[in-house]
Amino acid sequence: MDFNDSDSEAAFRAEAIAFLDQWTPKEFGSYTSGDDQEKVFHQHLAWQKTLAAHGWGAITWPEAHGGAGKGPIEQIIWNEELSRRGVGHSMLAVGIGMVGPTLIAHGTPEQQQRFLQPLLRADETWCQLFSEPGAGSDLAGLATRAVRDGDDWIISGQKTWCSGAQHNHFGILIARTDPSVPKHKGITYFLLDMSSPGIEVRPLIEMTGDSHFNEVFLDEVRVPDAARLGPVDGGWGVAQTTLMNERIAMGGLSNLLRFDDLLALVVSESDGAPSEAQRVELAHVYSQLRCLELLNARIVSKLGRGVIPTAESSVMKLALASMMTKANALAMRALGTKALLRPGYWQNEYLFAPAFHIAGGTSEVQKNVCAERVLGLPREGPDDRNTPFDQLPRN
Ligand SMILES: Cc1cc2nc3c(=O)[nH]c(=O)nc-3n(C[C@H](O)[C@H](O)[C@H](O)COP(=O)(O)OP(=O)(O)OC[C@H]3O[C@@H](n4cnc5c(N)ncnc54)[C@H](O)[C@@H]3O)c2cc1C
Repeated sequence: MDFNDSDSEAAFRAEAIAFLDQWTPKEFGSYTSGDDQEKVFHQHLAWQKTLAAHGWGAITWPEAHGGAGKGPIEQIIWNEELSRRGVGHSMLAVGIGMVGPTLIAHGTPEQQQRFLQPLLRADETWCQLFSEPGAGSDLAGLATRAVRDGDDWIISGQKTWCSGAQHNHFGILIARTDPSVPKHKGITYFLLDMSSPGIEVRPLIEMTGDSHFNEVFLDEVRVPDAARLGPVDGGWGVAQTTLMNERIAMGGLSNLLRFDDLLALVVSESDGAPSEAQRVELAHVYSQLRCLELLNARIVSKLGRGVIPTAESSVMKLALASMMTKANALAMRALGTKALLRPGYWQNEYLFAPAFHIAGGTSEVQKNVCAERVLGLPREGPDDRNTPFDQLPRN
């Protein structure tokens, strides 16, 4: 792999830089750093509207759907330039990065016509309603039910950890439509209007003090069949498109670590003379960060060729979580007793860091994937893939 820009990539980068130099917002808060979430959400909305208005709203979406029609390498270049300016991590990432590609791959022309443009322009925003109290790592074990009623479906159940659901107009939701078949087979995918009667969103307070995600209760929520995405009982396949795109988004998260700021903090808190131990730790974090960037490039380029990078994404997620924990702990040690003061950027980052071990697939589950698919070890636990869902033991 050649890591230098080709002529056309250099031209794309120059175009991106010219746009960003003119339009990058001065104020752009982060959803992890203790800023006022409502204010940050509106900053992110405004930024997406600016991007969409100038043709930068969705780099890899086809031009026919309002995207820039570029490939994965251009997406990496774009992400690099965004993160250099601190505007790379949007609270609208579920919509642009996950819902859009899923609608483009599986939506009917009517669904694409109805939803893609408002999503791109941030006139409508989206959240993901997949996880449940009893189904996270084992997502296919979900229990939320959708029952057909004429031209509608009636959905009841509970979702959890739904990032941003308190702000969003729509949610992507998977529910069980046939419990008599094996768990991956009886699931259907819906586009849920979050203002429908019967939906209650309850924010969860994290140890950072913020409410970044929510519980969502669904009590006989009526959803038209026109809001079904993909075939009845074929939602697991549709969800794979969403989850594959979530992996791309998670990979880009390595940019969340502002290494130059970490270095500046350690240098200033040590009066310009970091200890040998601090230098070694900084070198470790820096090398891990660089390796993750390269691994991310490999993942995105594989995805661009239609190959699912299972092992690479698991290694990526594991290493990312450990690097974020290490980097933020280094910052806290550098701060000394000041680390006990709140609010503070590094204090908040430190408290949020454990989330990287959980979101988008836990570290333990990634280790299982590596053990089975890279090392060829025997499958973990009983194989329940062919047992009908309603015969599975449940707590
Ligand atoms: C910041 C953040 C944002 C999120 N946003 C969303 C969102 O917007 N929408 C959404 O639907 N979900 C979201 N999630 C949920 C996330 O996808 C789940 O938390 C994740 O899949 C893990 O599921 P769980 O929390 O139910 O843990 P569980 O699956 O219950 O796991 C509990 C513990 O058991 C371990 N474990 C489970 N199975 C195994 C196994 N087979 N072998 C070894 N150990 C195992 C896990 O590693 C973990 O330590 C978010 C999570 C976080 C942290």
